This record gives sequence, C-alpha cells and structure tokens, in this order.
Amino acid sequence: MKILVINCGSSSIKYKLYDMSSETELCSGMLERVGTGEGIVNHKKGDDKYKDIMPLPDYETGIKVILDTITDEKKGSIKDISELKAIGHRVVHGAETFSGSKLITDEIISKMEECVPLAPLHNPPNLAGINAFKKILPNTPQCGVFDTAFHQTMPKESFLYAIPQELYKKHSIRRYGFHGTSHFYVSRVAAKMLGKPIEETKIVTCHLGNGSSVCAISGGKSVDTSMGMTPLEGLVMGTRCGDLDPAVPFIIMEREKTDQKGVDAILNKKSGLLGICGYNDSRDMEMKMDEGDEDATLAHNMFCRRIKKYIASYAAIMGGVDAVVFTAGIGENSDYARRDSLDCLEFMGLKLDLEKNRVRSKEARDISTPDSKVKVLVIPTNEELVIAQDTKTIISKL
Ligand code: AMP
Repeated sequence: MKILVINCGSSSIKYKLYDMSSETELCSGMLERVGTGEGIVNHKKGDDKYKDIMPLPDYETGIKVILDTITDEKKGSIKDISELKAIGHRVVHGAETFSGSKLITDEIISKMEECVPLAPLHNPPNLAGINAFKKILPNTPQCGVFDTAFHQTMPKESFLYAIPQELYKKHSIRRYGFHGTSHFYVSRVAAKMLGKPIEETKIVTCHLGNGSSVCAISGGKSVDTSMGMTPLEGLVMGTRCGDLDPAVPFIIMEREKTDQKGVDAILNKKSGLLGICGYNDSRDMEMKMDEGDEDATLAHNMFCRRIKKYIASYAAIMGGVDAVVFTAGIGENSDYARRDSLDCLEFMGLKLDLEKNRVRSKEARDISTPDSKVKVLVIPTNEELVIAQDTKTIISKL
C-alpha cells in the first residue's frame, strides 16, 4: 500500500512516499520557494539526489510536480499514480475540534477552516495542499494528522491560562501545544526501550529543533507541554523568545513606538538564539561558542537552562520520571545541548554518560549510566511515519 505524506508550509512542500506494507520510505523531497517564479525542487531516492529550478507559482503546480516526480521512470518509485492509495497531511492546528487524525471530507475541511484564526500562518497552506489534491486526485482519500491532537488530553490545570475564563469560552484562548506527532512517536519508542507498557511510564520528551517544545507524558498521554496557544510560548528557540513576562510586549510597543505587528515580528523572528547572539542555527552558535564568543555561550546557556527548568518541573507534576528523551535537529545531534540541559539533575536520579553522549549516531540510543534511575534516550523522530500509519489505519476502515 503506497501512501504519500505531505507537509505544506508557508513557502515549502515536503513529501515522503511510503510503502506501508513494509513501512519503508521509497522516496522523498522538498519544494522550496513555492509561490514564486523560481522554485527549487529537491528530490531523493535512496542515495540519489536531484535538484531542479522551475516556476512554482502555487501549491497546485507544486503538487503536480511532486506527482510527476514520484511517477518518473528514473527518479520515481511508482509507475502510475493509481498505485497511490491515500495522502496523509500534516495539519498544524486542530484546536479542540480534533483530538485524533481524520479522513478529510467537505465537512472536515470546513471545520479545519474554522481553526484558521488560531494558526493564520500555518493552517492556510495546509488547506491549500488538501484542496489542490482534491482537485488533481478527487478519488484518492486524504487524511489530516494534527500537531495539536496529542495534547488534547491535557487537563484544564495545564491548558488554561489564568485569565478570565470567559475569554477561553468566547475566543478559545487556551494552551494547545504543538509537535504532538513527534512527542507521540518518540514516547512510544521510549516505552519499548524501557521495556514497559506505555501506560506504566512517565516520560519527558524534548523536541529541540528550529521550533522546540517539551512534553510531560504520563501513561502515554500528554499532561503538559511547553508551547501554548501559539508556538511562541515555552523554550528559547531559534528566533522565538519563549516564556516572557506578558507585560513586555506592551512595553516594547510603547518604547519602540511600534504596533502589534512590529512586536509580533520581534518576538517570533528576531528573538531567541538569534536575538541573543546573532545566530539562529545552533550549529553556528556552537561553533562561535567553541571560539569563545560570549554572546553565543550566553544564548546556549539560556537555551539549556530553560529546558532544564521544564524537565524538572514536569518530573514534579508527574511525581517522577522514567526517561528523558531528546529528539529533532538539536536534540538528536547536539551533545552540548543535551549535556548542559541535564547538568544538575543528578538530584533526581538522572546520570548522563558523557562518553555515550558524545557518540554520533542516527540510531535510537540510551546515553545514561547503567545506574541512572532516569534513563536519557536519544530517539530520531519520525513524524511522517506516524502520519502514514494513521492514514493507513483510517483508509483500511473505508
Ligand atoms: P529541525 O527543526 O528539527 O530540522 O532542527 C533544526 C536545528 O537543528 C537547527 O538549529 C540546526 O542547527 C540543528 N542541528 C542540526 N544538526 C546539528 C548538529 N550536528 N549539531 C547541532 N545542531 C544541529
């Protein structure tokens, strides 16, 4: 069974084609600069990589290019588009409407449209991709897998802000959390590595990438997470500030003589690691840190300190923790970030093996000492596989 996973961003489309009878990846790629006359098409099949420049004026053109590529005799992995049994879409915001993955129907599309005000930058491209497929392949089923769905199990104590409840009821102002598919996936792999049923585990998962979030997962369910109503809350990120005194935006507005848009740009695009040291890519920041750059060291320390605060506070709300998991670009690759986020956590029985932490690998691994009560696991995330699995489950019932 061949399933295509699609992730439509504001100017990009990522795709991965799976053979779900064996859960193997057949080919994948990414279209960049969608919406322009000079789009970039990157495609990968096994070790072979292809790059093309061509006009990609809209999502529909982009999706036609993807379908042509995956059926191409040389670059592709299927002979005919009829082999494609379904499309699985990553959808960023599912609000309170979606607590699980869904078969996309006209009714679901209109419910997804209602979620747009909560993610005005992310959900419209997701919907554009869905509508393009509806037009190009009207008989191929499509499923939506929501980034927020996994966190719908959070109790009110976690998801409400301490503002008048009326505002929650009137405007849906609450915490939703993101990266749900990733937190779900790595927690399941972690339970297997711990040799315990997921229902009997307490796990803190740290998804550290360009956007970063931490999740407290008790008995397999998300009970708290660091991102909030939008992906701005929580950790220090590449360009986002994370947790902040809510009065600061008003002060910036007044002193910098700017408006809501100006503050939004500062907090979302000019803050985080970039705002502190001038680099938003942690590789550049770490390189500068090695050269003794004080601001890079400060940015790294702020990043790790915030992670540490979340890990310890989540252990507290769950009454303990069996494993801390690191995933995504920084979590999987940066031994500095892992080392300095866990430093000082020995008091709760967590001991990192510094040698194991330094070893580079693409495999899931345990980097704690044998006597560490809390295991430290590095687990490569695989959100696309979860999307393909959910899509397979849904269409198998049709
Ligand atoms: P993601 O959003 O998961 O793709 O992660 C992107 C982040 O991962 C960027 O900040 C990268 O700099 C970071 N990253 C990727 N590889 C490494 C590495 N080898 N060491 C440190 N950071 C890395």
